Amino acid sequence: MIEWIRRILKETEISKPEEVKRGMDNITEATELWTNVLAAIRNSVSQITYDTWLKKINPVKIENKTLILATALDKTKEFVTYNFMDKILNALGSVNSYVDNVEILTFDEEAHKAKILIKEQSKPREVEVVEEPRIDNDKFNKEFTFDNFVVGEFNEIVFAAAKGVVEDPGSKINPLFIYGGVGLGKTHIIHAIANKIIENNPNVKIQYSTTDRFISDFIDSINKSKDNELIKEFRKKYRNVDILMLDDIQFLNGKSATQETLFHIFNDLMQEHKQIIFTSDRHPKELSQIEERMRSRFLSGLTLDIGYPDLETRIAILQKKVYQKKYCIKSDILEFIAEKIDTNVRELEGALNKVAYTCTLTNREPTIEIVNQILKDEIDSKSGPLTMELITGVVSEYFSVPVEDIMSAKRSKNIAEARQMAIYIISELMSAPLTSIGEYLGGRDHTTIIHSRDKISALIKDNTVYKKYAGDIIERIRKG
Ligand code: ADP
Ligand code: MG
Repeated sequence: MIEWIRRILKETEISKPEEVKRGMDNITEATELWTNVLAAIRNSVSQITYDTWLKKINPVKIENKTLILATALDKTKEFVTYNFMDKILNALGSVNSYVDNVEILTFDEEAHKAKILIKEQSKPREVEVVEEPRIDNDKFNKEFTFDNFVVGEFNEIVFAAAKGVVEDPGSKINPLFIYGGVGLGKTHIIHAIANKIIENNPNVKIQYSTTDRFISDFIDSINKSKDNELIKEFRKKYRNVDILMLDDIQFLNGKSATQETLFHIFNDLMQEHKQIIFTSDRHPKELSQIEERMRSRFLSGLTLDIGYPDLETRIAILQKKVYQKKYCIKSDILEFIAEKIDTNVRELEGALNKVAYTCTLTNREPTIEIVNQILKDEIDSKSGPLTMELITGVVSEYFSVPVEDIMSAKRSKNIAEARQMAIYIISELMSAPLTSIGEYLGGRDHTTIIHSRDKISALIKDNTVYKKYAGDIIERIRKG
């Protein structure tokens, strides 16, 4: 065996005697460790198994707390890995606390690895070869930066938290859980965090993954792995990082095996104070098929939502996009688009692009009439004018309380709650005078309206359930 290492060292023309010496020390250590492991399992296997398989395995070195073993044939490697790995790992645990993993390779594989490693080491001032999977820090969208992110009331807390994470990853805000509807900037803000952290420290290892990708990676590693190697690789990929970002975690619903694996990865990372960030389209409490222990982990840091941008912010977003993309569109047109498209930022941006392209293609200066025509489909698909009837109807449906009861003098808890919510949403969304709201809702005077509005408003401020009710209802009203 030592002969074999010598051959590799010679083949790769290593010139530095200290390195050879260091290599030899490592070989001795590996040999000693392997001898002890074999002694520990010897009595638990038959003589023939021992001679045919285990004796054909040779110690090579210890690297990254892993004992590297090698054998001539693929068949031996697979057989031993598949049948004896558990025994080997157990024995290893009993004879050595420092080395905690074992990797069996064929000589060819090992020679290839060793050649690369030795070649790299023999070059002066060359960066050390990292055995861990490479983290691709280039995959973040360079457009998704803090500078390009418009901040308004709807996202200012998330923005502040994101900045906090950048300042001190893994310490104050961990995990950060951001939730909100589609197209509201969740992916943008976490890419912005990554871009900024990489700018501050280009060597940082960030593993960003959509949850879809995380799940399919995991399933692939189970399906293709004969000997758990790929599952180990999978864990390593997500565990050996400084920052883990999982986007759209709602897709984890019902995927219990993946949840289990994520749970362990989560615990390991948290223990090492590594930053974890999740995004989701809903609050952790609304994720229906998530194990309780996973949900409680999601909630163990800071859970923040991104709401919907108001008109002023929508205009600011359009101005930013126009500036970025160098479109030539006047501000009254931007205001018109912002007024008409009030769903989410993605649709807002889509509408702006459509206007810009259509006008460029047809060589027309955008006017309100032209834009109205271009965005006809987007505008028509929305509901008609906002009315108190419409809002009350949606609230009634949401709380399953008939409209007549909302209008009536009945004071039971669920009816009063629906009524107060209707009052709150009408006063939020419509600029109707309080007296006319009172008149519409069964002839109530304006002090009752103020009281209801303020009551719900206060509840929303410190209760996510009410906040969610209001958010859901407003979304339903928007969708028509
Ligand atoms: P989500 O992940 O919440 O579905 P994205 O982050 O993909 O949404 O955002 C959709 C689009 O809207 C992206 O092009 C993004 O740049 C843009 N966007 C979202 N929020 C903002 C914002 N606050 N300022 C500027 N652009 C934004
Ligand atoms: Mg997204």
